[in-house]
Amino acid sequence: MSRPVQFNNHVKFEGIPEGYMGEGFMATNLEKVVSLARKNSIWPLPFATSCCGIEFMATAASHYDIARFGAERMSFSPRQCDLIFVMGTISKKMGPVLRQVYLQMAEPRWVMAVGACASSGGIFDSYSVLQGIDQVIPVDVYVPGCPPRPEAYLDGFMKIQELVNAEGLRRRYSDQYKDMLASYGIQ
Ligand code: SF4
Repeated sequence: MSRPVQFNNHVKFEGIPEGYMGEGFMATNLEKVVSLARKNSIWPLPFATSCCGIEFMATAASHYDIARFGAERMSFSPRQCDLIFVMGTISKKMGPVLRQVYLQMAEPRWVMAVGACASSGGIFDSYSVLQGIDQVIPVDVYVPGCPPRPEAYLDGFMKIQELVNAEGLRRRYSDQYKDMLASYGIQ
């Protein structure tokens, strides 16, 4: 037989949007509710090409448990994801592939460059390695490290959540955003 859930005084609710609350109801505006839902249900696409991807596996596994942030549903289809984790060395030949995957993601979409290689080419300052994925797609958050520890992944992910929460519903239609995409040759 099911019982009602008991909350004690130590339970805290995080991230409740501003609004009017009363017995059994809450009123706030649509933008805040959408931001709250988006922030806590991000579907990541792991784009891993080398060692940083292994650290991501630890981030997703039980000890660090990215599911605590509502992000355990990995998507390997760009059309059903919101956030692309780019992890590993990206060669210049791989650049157009990464860009193609980014273009297949629906708006709103976010990008995290994880580790030194994805952020800047890392130790591979060579003719064949892209010196940072921001040469082909816009990046929202950079995570330093070689490789970053799972804590750093989670810290970067929480920065993405802050961006998602703070982003208004109309930002993607703004001239500033369109100009930024245009600077990458994206319509
Ligand atoms: S940043 Fe370091 S650990 Fe990550 S892919 Fe590059 S070499 Fe490997």
